[in-house]
Amino acid sequence: MNISESKRLFNEAQNFIPGGVNSPVRAFKAVGGNPLFIKKANGAYLYDEDGNQYIELINSWGPMILGHNHPMIREAVIKAMEEGTSFGAPTAKEVEIAELIVSMVPSVEKVRMVNSGTEATMSAIRVARGYTGRDKFIKMEGHYHGHGDSFLIAAGSGAMTMGDPDSPGVTKGTAKDTLLAPYNNLEAIEKLVEANRGEIAALILEPVPGNMGLCLPNEGYLQGLRDICTREGIVLIFDEVMTGFRLAKGGAQELFGVTPDMTTLGKIIGGGMPVGAYGGKKEIMEFVSPSGPVYQAGTLSGNPIAMAAGLTMLNHLNSHPEVYTRLNEIGQKLTDGIGKVNQELGLDYTINLLGSMYSLFFTNEEIHDFETAKKANTGMFGKYFQAMLHRGVYLAPSQFESLFLSTALTDELIETIVTAHKSSIQEIHK
Ligand code: PLP
Repeated sequence: MNISESKRLFNEAQNFIPGGVNSPVRAFKAVGGNPLFIKKANGAYLYDEDGNQYIELINSWGPMILGHNHPMIREAVIKAMEEGTSFGAPTAKEVEIAELIVSMVPSVEKVRMVNSGTEATMSAIRVARGYTGRDKFIKMEGHYHGHGDSFLIAAGSGAMTMGDPDSPGVTKGTAKDTLLAPYNNLEAIEKLVEANRGEIAALILEPVPGNMGLCLPNEGYLQGLRDICTREGIVLIFDEVMTGFRLAKGGAQELFGVTPDMTTLGKIIGGGMPVGAYGGKKEIMEFVSPSGPVYQAGTLSGNPIAMAAGLTMLNHLNSHPEVYTRLNEIGQKLTDGIGKVNQELGLDYTINLLGSMYSLFFTNEEIHDFETAKKANTGMFGKYFQAMLHRGVYLAPSQFESLFLSTALTDELIETIVTAHKSSIQEIHK
């Protein structure tokens, strides 16, 4: 595989951009090799600067649920561009998308648009603190909520991949208000609540975490959290930046029938443009400025191009339930194929799947939290990643990520991926 142009660009980039990339996992540090510089993407494929083609299983880390460069989204963006790129003033599209989000996501009665998932989670915690008058919040080990200071403690995703789940630069003062708990363990939450009674503003979690690899909630776990938060006056926040509009049109909260007080959203909500949002109960959201005293703002928030892309995407998902049927089918077929190959080869690696999100862990242990996720063999994953890449399949460059499937994956492509898996897994076990 010729990747000489990617190599040249990476060398050049390192002179001007820290680590040569604008987000750490893109540097391929955890899997070795040179990151690929992507020129364009279409449907199920990515194309690098050297003209190589790859089948996509990350889809821009989630947003491209319909595949890349979907004509419907592209046309909406072009049409919006013709009317100007930013106004810094309210628009009709913002009202329309807010109404749509409220109708789709069970917990959301009012919503504020921001520019990233990071902004959404930072703002949601501030609002929960303002609303409750309390300072502390509970976060789960291995969950990732963007790079806000108070979340960079036992953080998943790139932080976990880089081996820096606790970042320098986060002050002790900030860290002391973040209480950590293991995922899927209600007893641990009861203990934290008991030790900090009346001081906890919020409990934030990825209801179905994808940032330590995909893990699923134990039966009754999310409802258990709901009950504790209701009893203790703690604002329950589901971070659905990954799962929102993906696991169901109303996200994990719809799928599991548990309604949080607040929800953070991103990725799909912008149709590939930089967008995030946070919303929740009216009573809580009324605390946000200018209705209430909790300040939060943004020069480009509600940007008309981003709103056009997001609105088109959400309208489509809202009116085409068959998208979810197909996504579930794709996830099932692909992981069945991979699992069958593994079985034939006598390998019992763990595969966690929910809908169109899955992770293949290089361990045969059950993976249900941060501690168990860390048991996966990252060296083997790195080899597997490279073997798949050389066969034209682009995976997330880390063991501690979920893959995100799109409707652009045909049955034929699924078979191609399974074949690539078979020869890759054989190669790395030679
Ligand atoms: N929350 C979750 C669950 C995420 O997965 C991410 C990013 O992957 C974020 C928040 C942060 O979003 P962003 O990268 O848009 O800031």
